[in-house]
Amino acid sequence: RLTMADIYQNVRIPTSNDSVYKDECLYSFDSPLSENGLFICMSTFHGVGKDHVARHCHLNPGKNIFLHISRRRIPVPVDPNVEPTRVTKMAIGVEGGFDANGPKRYTFEERYAIYIHPSVIIPYPDQASTLPEHVKQSADAIIAAESAFLKEERALMNTTWNGEIRQESKHAQTLEQLNNGRKIPPNGWKCEQCDLKDNLWLNLTDGAILCGRKFFDGTGGNNHAVDHYYKTRYPLAVKLGTITNKGADVYSYDEDDMDDMVEDPNLAIHLSHWGINMMKMEKTDRSMADLEIEINQKYGEASMIEEANSKLQPLYGAGKLFIETTCI
Ligand SMILES: [Zn+2]
Ligand SMILES: [Zn+2]
Repeated sequence: RLTMADIYQNVRIPTSNDSVYKDECLYSFDSPLSENGLFICMSTFHGVGKDHVARHCHLNPGKNIFLHISRRRIPVPVDPNVEPTRVTKMAIGVEGGFDANGPKRYTFEERYAIYIHPSVIIPYPDQASTLPEHVKQSADAIIAAESAFLKEERALMNTTWNGEIRQESKHAQTLEQLNNGRKIPPNGWKCEQCDLKDNLWLNLTDGAILCGRKFFDGTGGNNHAVDHYYKTRYPLAVKLGTITNKGADVYSYDEDDMDDMVEDPNLAIHLSHWGINMMKMEKTDRSMADLEIEINQKYGEASMIEEANSKLQPLYGAGKLFIETTCI
């Protein structure tokens, strides 16, 4: 007779190094929104739809414990008094494509259970008291984990912007940097014109530290960095908190009639002018890619697409849309 410890012996707690495939079945298009939900193997963290659970267990002997995720979409009534905003966001894995007939907002309700193939269902967390501690920890960690798809998306987004590879700024080789004696500390920054302490941009020409644009949902900054550009025409700014030894978010207010995220191959030199050693910096603020993904998650699926005339570009794969964004 199997003891409870034997049954659950292969259940692992995912770490940040594990990829948790909780968006879509490995073998079909089933997702947590599908009628039967999605089953996440608590050993391999692979997600499978109902029809593929038996196959997964056959291929992975002893790995028959799953976290079942079932998600329901609940439409939120649209307030006709609220202006649709200009800023639109990338939509990851939009199911059924893009609805151009108007913004639809949703909230999501998720239900969980531990499923022991082939026959036992334990509602979670309602009956969590019947489970060993490491199984509860595994379930909680899977629920909290960033999905493998979002991880890949973030990695991709960090080298691209609006689906395009970031281009070298036309100012990168000739950027003027003033010798005004300013040195930027490695942390503890604040906007020079307001009290904001994050979403801050360092102008690479004069070393001014100013806050970013206000986002369409009211978060973000007070536009001090962009206002500074219109006064000075100093074109390049780097987002403080995104600087690491691998690079940083660099924004150009002046790239051939547009403003855009850019590459600055001389970034290390431009930062050292202000006393910043790029090799010693660590990430402390959200990158623009992080923010897009966050907003995407916050507003859910197609709901963040608020402008029917948005430029939609297929990014890759069916149903994965990419929509132009304005950021700082
Ligand atoms: Zn698996
Ligand atoms: Zn400010």
